[in-house]
Amino acid sequence: MFGTKFQRKYALTDQGVENVKKGVFWTVIVNLVVMGGVGILHFVMSGLMATLTEGTPLPGALQVLAGLVVFALLSFLTHLQQYKTTYGLVYGEVKASRLRLAEQLRKLPLGFFGKHDLADLTETLMGDVNRMEHVWSHVLGYLYGSYISTAVITACLFWYDWRLAIACLWGVPVAFGLLFGSRKMAERQAGQTKEAAVRVSDGMQEALENVREIRAANQEERYLVGLYQKINDHERVMIHGELVTGLFVNGASVIMRLGVATTILVGAQLILAGQIDFMLLFLFLMVITRIYAPFDQSLALIAELFVSQVSADRMNRLFDTPIAEGTEKFCPKGHDIVFDHVGFAYDEKVVLSDITFTAKEGEITALVGPSGSGKSTCARLAARLWDVTRGTIKVGEIDISTVDPEALLTDYSMVFQDVVLFDDTVMENIRLGKRGASDAEVMAAAKAANCEEFIKKLPQGYHTSIGENGTKLSGGERQRISIARALLKNAPIVLLDEATASLDVENETKVQDALSRLLAGKTVLVIAHRMRTVAGADHIVVLKEGRVAQQGTPQELMAQGGLYRRMVELQSESAQWNLKQA
Ligand code: ADP
Repeated sequence: MFGTKFQRKYALTDQGVENVKKGVFWTVIVNLVVMGGVGILHFVMSGLMATLTEGTPLPGALQVLAGLVVFALLSFLTHLQQYKTTYGLVYGEVKASRLRLAEQLRKLPLGFFGKHDLADLTETLMGDVNRMEHVWSHVLGYLYGSYISTAVITACLFWYDWRLAIACLWGVPVAFGLLFGSRKMAERQAGQTKEAAVRVSDGMQEALENVREIRAANQEERYLVGLYQKINDHERVMIHGELVTGLFVNGASVIMRLGVATTILVGAQLILAGQIDFMLLFLFLMVITRIYAPFDQSLALIAELFVSQVSADRMNRLFDTPIAEGTEKFCPKGHDIVFDHVGFAYDEKVVLSDITFTAKEGEITALVGPSGSGKSTCARLAARLWDVTRGTIKVGEIDISTVDPEALLTDYSMVFQDVVLFDDTVMENIRLGKRGASDAEVMAAAKAANCEEFIKKLPQGYHTSIGENGTKLSGGERQRISIARALLKNAPIVLLDEATASLDVENETKVQDALSRLLAGKTVLVIAHRMRTVAGADHIVVLKEGRVAQQGTPQELMAQGGLYRRMVELQSESAQWNLKQA
């Protein structure tokens, strides 16, 4: 029962399985002790009946009192133990699970995050674990414990009188049958509710992130209508789900309780026929009221288990995603990046085929080509943010797919379009480039990246907090911070999205200055947008629809004609383009 299948089904850690075992054990003990109470009552009632009918002396008050005290004490101690094992230990499990998920997220290839919705991942980390917390604490121990104790008690009832036992328990298999019959429906319903919830949080997140664009386009009202629609859908699906579950759980409970009526009917017949005495019927009636309680709760718990399966499956899906692994030692011979017949597809969509080129150390290699031709994808593959589907990429003669991504990335600096800044001070944001860098090192990098001038103007200089994602800084300032980071890291390979460097025209020379310091002597792979920059590159790879159309030095390519030359000519025409056409 507690094999790996069970562990996987409920997304438990090894320790979690041990805890559930303890919970089951103590639930069995608690249920049996509670039945002991019924035994004491039966003993007292039998004594009373005997006194009334046959005139035998009453059971001693002391005896009864002692029995009650022992019962109360046992009941208290076992309940306490059950509480500790089922509720107490589970918080450790919640923590362990979140850490396990976080650890898995840390090891997943970065490309995974591009493919998955952040709201969905947050929902797994927070919502799904929360739902499972309830299952681990309130459901598993209680449910499996009740199964075992009820089996023991049922066996006792059959041993006393099989006819009465059948009369009181026939409803149980029918009720459980009904509930299991509804399982598919409950699971489908839970899946729909979860999807609707994710759509709502997605919509909220999108609205908050894009509030500026939405307002600028005067689309608030239209956007809100869409959002309300999502919220209403979620509400409708949830109410429907609750209704279906409630209907089956309560229906099953009513059927089970019909057993009380049949017990009385059968019992009365048996008493009339002189086959049992009244006290036995009394005992059965006492026991079944006790036995129905855990069953009743089990019905609700089973319904919860069905619903929670969706959460467990979502957690398992995350655990099942293959992580990017490799050796942790990365000692390349130099830092030439060699693409050898590389092919790549995002899911089914092939975006690169047969890409072969070398980005040499100490040179600037520019990737050019129309939008969508695969330039960014090449840069991502070079840093193993995704794994190639065909061919190999080698850095310093080592196939990067054999290197642990974290180890690999220590040799890379990336200055990409989407500069991510954290809600921290300028100092810490730059220090991110190199863990443990001293303040003096950070300042030197900031100076080299031409950041000093604007940092000095900030209210607390380097110690100014820059707001979430650097909202207090201009585009050009953010870029220079990211360049300062890269300078501080001083990695031998630099991947650069040149759009980053063209954003802030006013500070262009400063950014260019900073960049030339960053790039000197490194292996540089630049996603180029302006032909002016490309002219300064040592090697150019022209991409077209995911294939290498041309490659060579700028002079060679100009001489060749073709796509490159057309692009250069087009851009020099557009450079003369003016808002006010003459
Ligand atoms: P470029 O940088 O030259 O504009 P990209 O490398 O960004 O080109 O994109 C190449 C192709 O891959 C495009 O057709 C684009 O739609 C697709 N693409 C880019 N990123 C993804 C992604 N994360 N998932 C699926 N398709 C993508």
